[in-house]
Amino acid sequence: MSVRNNMYFYYSKEEEVEAKLKPLFQLAKNNQFNLVDNIQEANVIISVGGDGMFLQAVRESNFRQNAIYAGLSRDGESSLYCDFNLDNFDELLYSVLHEEMEVRRFPIIKARVNEGRDFYCLNELTIRSTIVKTIVLDVFIDDQHFETFRGDGMVIATPTGSTAYNKSTNGAIIDPKISCYQVTEIASMNNNNFRTLGSSFVLNKERKLTLLEIEDGNDHPIVSFDNEAFPIRKINKIEISMDDKVVKTVKLKNNTYWDRVKRMFL
Ligand code: NAP
Repeated sequence: MSVRNNMYFYYSKEEEVEAKLKPLFQLAKNNQFNLVDNIQEANVIISVGGDGMFLQAVRESNFRQNAIYAGLSRDGESSLYCDFNLDNFDELLYSVLHEEMEVRRFPIIKARVNEGRDFYCLNELTIRSTIVKTIVLDVFIDDQHFETFRGDGMVIATPTGSTAYNKSTNGAIIDPKISCYQVTEIASMNNNNFRTLGSSFVLNKERKLTLLEIEDGNDHPIVSFDNEAFPIRKINKIEISMDDKVVKTVKLKNNTYWDRVKRMFL
């Protein structure tokens, strides 16, 4: 029997979804899986919904290193994190049971705000103005001053997050096999007083990015980690780096990242 046999389904508790999932629960039980009620006890975590749901499942289970994740999308939806859907769930079970499964390892970002505890992001970290005024940030790469940013905000994205918010801010799509993270601007001001690079830049895994908030009449930008807002409103300093942790997902055969990018956008 597989050692990975504690399965948790993460989904919105709606009657319609539950009805569709019932046969899948039974199929899992018939294949020697225990359905557990506590996500922390699971070693196979399955989100049902789209990419947003997958992000939520990873976040709520706290980026577990000893669990494998899989995304099930609902009828006909394309998504970047979900290889499976309600119709090919048996393929997912087969892969997990037969130890021959292909596993993807997605790099994640680690962020420390105001020298507090570490937070992880699978898609991105953002810092954004919440009022009509711009925010001002001093940007350091490996503790060396790089630029002073003034504008609406910045997006610091992982490779798998590059197709999300990062793409809307004209960032490049990055292959998740590259351990790096990308910094994109949201509406920077460029004039004789403020000058930024004006294009996205990509930092190697080993580099550290530091953002220092300059108090300039806008002291309350909002920081987000994927789909969660950071609860503390007074932000002084954010230190960002890539972590050694990864998010492991079950891969459907013949379904590369670029297949999914093509399916979703072209
Ligand atoms: P949401 O605002 O309800 O939905 C955001 C959309 O982004 C959903 O359609 C979601 O896909 C999609 N998405 C999430 N991760 C993606 C990825 N890696 N590649 C491509 N598309 C992706 O928020 P949510 O569902 O909680 O997701 C949070 C994410 O929304 C954030 O991490 C951020 O990337 C994104 N976001 C984007 C913008 C923007 O582009 N202007 C602004 C704010 C937030 P599904 O429909 O499959 O769930």
